[in-house]
Amino acid sequence: MSFFPSEMEEYAPLPEAPPFDPVEAMAALGPRVQEVFGIEELRPMQAEAIEANLQGRDLLLVLPTGGGKSLCYQAPALVRPGLTLVISPLISLMKDQVDGLVQNGVAAAMLGSNLESDERRRVMDDLRAGTLDLLYVSPERLFSPGFLELVSQGCAQPLAAVAIDEAHCISQWGHDFRPEYRRLGGLREALPGVPLHAYTATATSDVRDDIVRALGCTDPIVLVAPFDRPNLIYRSLPRTSVLDQIREVIARHPGDGGIVYCISRKETERIAGGLSKAGVRAEAYHAGLPARERARVQERFQSEEVDVVVATVAFGMGIDRTNVRFVVHASLPKGVEQYAQETGRAGRDGLEAECTMFYSGSDYYSWKGLVERSAAESADASDDVWGGEQDEEAREEASFQAAKVQEAAIARLGKMMGFASGGICRHRALVEYFGQELAEPGQDYDCGACDVCLGELEELEDGKVISQKILSCIVRTGQRFGSGHVADVLKGAKTQNIKKYGHDELSTYGLLPEFDKDTLRSLIDQLVGLGFIMVAPGQYPTLYLSPEGGELMYGNREVRLVRVPQAKASASRSGSGRRRKSAAAEELAEGASDVFERLRALRRELARSRGVPPYVIFTDRTLVAMANHTPRTLDDFGRLPGVGAKKLEDLGPIFVAELNK
Ligand code: ADP
Ligand code: ZN
Repeated sequence: MSFFPSEMEEYAPLPEAPPFDPVEAMAALGPRVQEVFGIEELRPMQAEAIEANLQGRDLLLVLPTGGGKSLCYQAPALVRPGLTLVISPLISLMKDQVDGLVQNGVAAAMLGSNLESDERRRVMDDLRAGTLDLLYVSPERLFSPGFLELVSQGCAQPLAAVAIDEAHCISQWGHDFRPEYRRLGGLREALPGVPLHAYTATATSDVRDDIVRALGCTDPIVLVAPFDRPNLIYRSLPRTSVLDQIREVIARHPGDGGIVYCISRKETERIAGGLSKAGVRAEAYHAGLPARERARVQERFQSEEVDVVVATVAFGMGIDRTNVRFVVHASLPKGVEQYAQETGRAGRDGLEAECTMFYSGSDYYSWKGLVERSAAESADASDDVWGGEQDEEAREEASFQAAKVQEAAIARLGKMMGFASGGICRHRALVEYFGQELAEPGQDYDCGACDVCLGELEELEDGKVISQKILSCIVRTGQRFGSGHVADVLKGAKTQNIKKYGHDELSTYGLLPEFDKDTLRSLIDQLVGLGFIMVAPGQYPTLYLSPEGGELMYGNREVRLVRVPQAKASASRSGSGRRRKSAAAEELAEGASDVFERLRALRRELARSRGVPPYVIFTDRTLVAMANHTPRTLDDFGRLPGVGAKKLEDLGPIFVAELNK
């Protein structure tokens, strides 16, 4: 659809832009941010990004989810003349941001397929009249005929900058490649002189380079924030009876919002059903549901009518609920990027949140099979992506690329398995994956916020001997069986296969009878994760020893295996004083929870009557401060974090009245 009548309009030259001084703008920005968003202080990386932004430099900012990326393009748009265009891959994502901005009194709008035609006309009028500070559009819309000409030449104000959200979607090497994002490579030429700003939460250094290259950034400032999310508590446990395990997590967060990620659609429905039966307000969400049903679930989660969404990875990008208190992975994600992104949806308000994963070796093989199958198809699919015919050479190139993509995907999967089964601090392992450090190599580090550092994982005293027994069992059975069979042999089980192959006559038969099969598989998983056992590619995931595994078998290596008692996680959590929270976040004071719940109900009611998600009214962080300090005058109310001038005027009286009750 075009924004224009068929013949293109001739544009008069733009009025002379007023002189703009980035230093003055930076000075003016602080008070504006305070006034509009109620934010007292920029985080260090935000200040740097905003400065680069105001200076008109190209920019790549890598900031973890919840780190405050949006402020980096929203705040400059308030103090700089001209329009800031924001590109975002999802309508729902844009809608939430625009709702929030409008609520704060900012001149922001979006152009998306969700608009009624008269609403769209109004946005177009505002755009032409130059009264908007921020306009959100999808990549498709950006390249619709005539649109770029309009924003760059046909409006009463200049185009000041283009902000590209979720910029990793442009990279084929990344984990979330979107073909429509590839077209953004044409922006530089279409909009000469307009600064390009790329924002993402997850990008390894390869992907960062790729983003800069694909956009054609000139001498960009690249800022990579510290990746750690100290307010998240990470746990990774072998999966046993997953529904019970999930219920245990939920029991630690009664009435709180949470997401449970599953591998399959069927699993989402089974678990959602199980949770509902147990009295949890839970719903399933996956790509197989009709669009209307998906929108409904998402809406109900945002408005806090549903507490737990049990979903496939289809659920996520559009979720902007900042008070998600837990994220559960019912199985292994396919890469650390996905894990970081999905767990990153927890605790975006900076308050404590829990991320618990239940993994099994079989997840690894399921993903691997999927990657291999989809890589075989992706060479063909590249026809669709790039369009048109391909000659022989291009086809070869495509299949070469497909092989590389597959290899990269399997390597990412292996890293994920290593993370899940590994026994080193989860915060540290995550941060190191993204090329950063929490401590010098070889030095001890205690994050106080993961199962490893909290001491929930018990180290097996005789881990080395146990490992040797497992490894020699793999060797004795000829290095041609999977972990299920190896576990059976070690356990001393009486299965048909064991009889058939005569494995009950091996010296390693029944060598570890003290463990049940699940535990044995988890120990094998750990040795896979640590690189001592390899898994053969192909249909049958048979185990064999790596060179290091051989050394360990002969006792020439050290190893640490952990035992995972089921009930321990819940016991140690509440008592531990070592847990951390984000420095800026306040915790709900003892005795304030009644007030908090009352404020929360009021917020929910207001959100419903205004048709916006509750966090758009106030975030949990503001509510916590409100419950702790119970301001009884508007003056005091205005000092709460997250309360700007507009909200003070609009919402202050309502909440102060409630607090005075
Ligand atoms: P991202 O886009 O990086 O995932 P958001 O931009 O959605 O993160 O910000 C997450 C939350 O942090 C929002 O509620 C936002 O208002 C808040 N926030 C951003 N910057 C600051 C700051 N400097 N101080 C306090 N809160 C902030
Ligand atoms: Zn730790």
